[in-house]
Amino acid sequence: MQKFVQVVPLQPIRQTFTYSIPDDLAPVVHIGSRALIPFGRKIITGIIAGFTDNAVEKKIKPLWDILDPEPIWTKEFMDFTEWVANYYLAPWGEVLHAALPQGMAGESGFLVVPIVEDLAERAKLLAKTRAIKRAELLRLVALNPSGISLKTLRNKLQFGGINTAIKEYEDQGLLMLQATDAEQKAKPKFIRMMRIAENLLNDDDLREGMAELEKRSPKKATVLALLYDNHLKDKGGLAVSAIIQRTGASAAALNGLADKGYAVLYKIEIKRSFFTGIPKTPPIYQLNERQLTAINAIASAVLANNFHPFLLHGVTGSGKTQVYIEVIKKVLAKKRSVITLVPEISLTPQLIDRYRAHFGDEVAVLHSRMSIGERYDTWRAVQSGKCNVVIGARSALFAPVKNLGMIVVDEEHESSFKQTDAAPRYNARDCAVVRASMERAAVVLGSATPSLESFYNATAGKYTMLELPERVDNALMPDIVVVDTREARKKKEMHNNISFFLRDQIRVRLQKKEGIILLQNRRGFAPIQQCLDCGAAPECPHCSVTLTFHKVKNQLRCHYCGHSIPAVTACMSCGSTNVKLFGAGTQRVEEDIAALFPDAKIARMDLDTTSHKGAHKEILDTFGSGDADILLGTQMVAKGLDFPRVTLVGVISADTQLHLPDFRASERTFQLLTQVSGRAGRTAAQKGEVVIQTSNPNDEAIKSVVQHDYKGFYADELQKRKELFYPPFSRIILIEFKGKDDKFVQQHANMLKRFITPDGYSEILGPHQPPISKLRDEYRWRILIKNDKEKDGGGTKIRRALQRALDEYTTRYATRAVRVIVDIDPQGV
Ligand SMILES: [Zn+2]
Ligand SMILES: [Zn+2]
Repeated sequence: MQKFVQVVPLQPIRQTFTYSIPDDLAPVVHIGSRALIPFGRKIITGIIAGFTDNAVEKKIKPLWDILDPEPIWTKEFMDFTEWVANYYLAPWGEVLHAALPQGMAGESGFLVVPIVEDLAERAKLLAKTRAIKRAELLRLVALNPSGISLKTLRNKLQFGGINTAIKEYEDQGLLMLQATDAEQKAKPKFIRMMRIAENLLNDDDLREGMAELEKRSPKKATVLALLYDNHLKDKGGLAVSAIIQRTGASAAALNGLADKGYAVLYKIEIKRSFFTGIPKTPPIYQLNERQLTAINAIASAVLANNFHPFLLHGVTGSGKTQVYIEVIKKVLAKKRSVITLVPEISLTPQLIDRYRAHFGDEVAVLHSRMSIGERYDTWRAVQSGKCNVVIGARSALFAPVKNLGMIVVDEEHESSFKQTDAAPRYNARDCAVVRASMERAAVVLGSATPSLESFYNATAGKYTMLELPERVDNALMPDIVVVDTREARKKKEMHNNISFFLRDQIRVRLQKKEGIILLQNRRGFAPIQQCLDCGAAPECPHCSVTLTFHKVKNQLRCHYCGHSIPAVTACMSCGSTNVKLFGAGTQRVEEDIAALFPDAKIARMDLDTTSHKGAHKEILDTFGSGDADILLGTQMVAKGLDFPRVTLVGVISADTQLHLPDFRASERTFQLLTQVSGRAGRTAAQKGEVVIQTSNPNDEAIKSVVQHDYKGFYADELQKRKELFYPPFSRIILIEFKGKDDKFVQQHANMLKRFITPDGYSEILGPHQPPISKLRDEYRWRILIKNDKEKDGGGTKIRRALQRALDEYTTRYATRAVRVIVDIDPQGV
């Protein structure tokens, strides 16, 4: 029996703390349980991370309480989260906090409410004995008839026995503990039920009882008859609300029945779930040779109980999902569980449907648009082992599955696996490989356009490469045609943003009632409203970007901070009325198409049309069922959609991403165009066609897309990365400084830089301003580190050097006026 525990507070603090274990808590203290700990003058929640016999701290306080009688996480999971914290230089508590569903990280959500009226007197009596703390507790509760929060009580009383005392008083009926709103939603939800009493199930007793009730209270007799009927049907009870609704009996009447022993009131837990409707039956599916090879390779790794990473490189429409499904069947048969990570849940209804068709209620979806209650229930269903197939976006990486057998990362190249807006800034794809290795599981990274990093790992032998070079069901890859928009414009063969060639293709499809997808990766109407005389374009006053014109509200809007102003009629800088709109967003393309084809029904899908819950699904259903002829949208339309009726894909402008100041700009363009092209002609019956409009027809990325040449593109791009020392050859670390005072922010960036001791394996660049130098009223400066992956394997050396520098900087110069954000392996540099 060890004396002390190490606890990680669920706070952004880079430290664990030691506590002693009170005797009464000793049996329930486990690694991976939540504990309440005294921390400064507060009581906060932490996670037990380990036991120890020696403590370094001088004054050791005892643990206050344990919130989970059984640990919620395993030792392996704790180790994994610690790795995440170390790698991304994030506090461990922050990682653990991110892994918990909302509402479980704090315990502020309880009210203590007095029930009896003489509580104050009882407090006085108690005060005469020696139970001072208990007396004070009752006094405080008595003072607050509508309830006092448990948190306040803890802080005021500093009383270790508070939980026991409250529990006792609650049992005595003096007070009650009431969950407040947020916590309420994250608690199990119960409904009240009623069933007929066992002793009435004998015919004679029932007849006697009914006769007696009919005389005195016919309503009650009706209820009893209903309960008896229901018992005959399925031996179960009925919800109290349903009984009241069906019989018109009052709640008091039901209580009366229970009091007299005719019926029994009880509660059952309701599982709130994200799903509505029943799963479809799985289609019969003929697997091809390549799929079988992939399935066998992954399945044997799972059966061998070994860590094994795979890259599943399959062209669009090659049946990757079915490979996942077949392997999952085998994983489940071994009583192990599976996590599938997808870029965004809203955009993957088809994958979820197929999983549900095969695995029914085993499937749990973790979704950011779920209510707190739905999330909590789903999390618990996974944690308790009821659901062993988890699907979710990046945070599902932390799903508390038992006995992990496999992690699938579908569309592994997507940048949304990286968390960029808040710490921990982890990449779920990279972390999935680590989690799988720590839990001896298989990990499958699937994509038609693998990231350069993953493909490099596969060619270097770190991952096993599995290839699906052909589409299933003998469907052919689509033909891709490039339209040079500069040429077309010269020849006057453009109708605004639509070339005559694309227009003619659309017309043919509309006549044949076939589906059309159009991509314009820019929302709004026009990205720039520019003065033809002086060249000025209205910029956001809070960010250094131009404002985008939105026609619906005749507004100029900032896509970074949301700031909007009415559209201008005269130039804000020279007053000229010669202002024009340049460029095209989805709204303008919609207008162009509507002008050309007034009868066509267009479904537009972009950030502006999908803000409400269920919007994606509505739009996709409308298009899938043929109620809309054309699906037009931003990159959302490129992702994982499988509609057999689509035979034409049009890219309005392939140039939108090509010139972004990002070393991955080419890679992103190649991926987006290949993915959107892949939506065309997914059946053998109809070969698809893709029209790509661009003013850069000779760009390597675009040429590779046309030739379906991933490997050619990869070789070319890899060479460029090597020359410029970018990933996969280096590890990038970005340190961003933000604040209201430009000069001051720059100074601080320089101060930190001076503390970074060169390790010989890293280039330290900057400070420099990023392309968008001001965002939401804050100026930004950056330091960029390129760390040699060959020489500093796990990046240990640079992280150590950086941590030292950060500590030094923090002790000497840290100020609220400058925020410092460290991003390891950032997206978009
Ligand atoms: Zn002007
Ligand atoms: Zn802005």
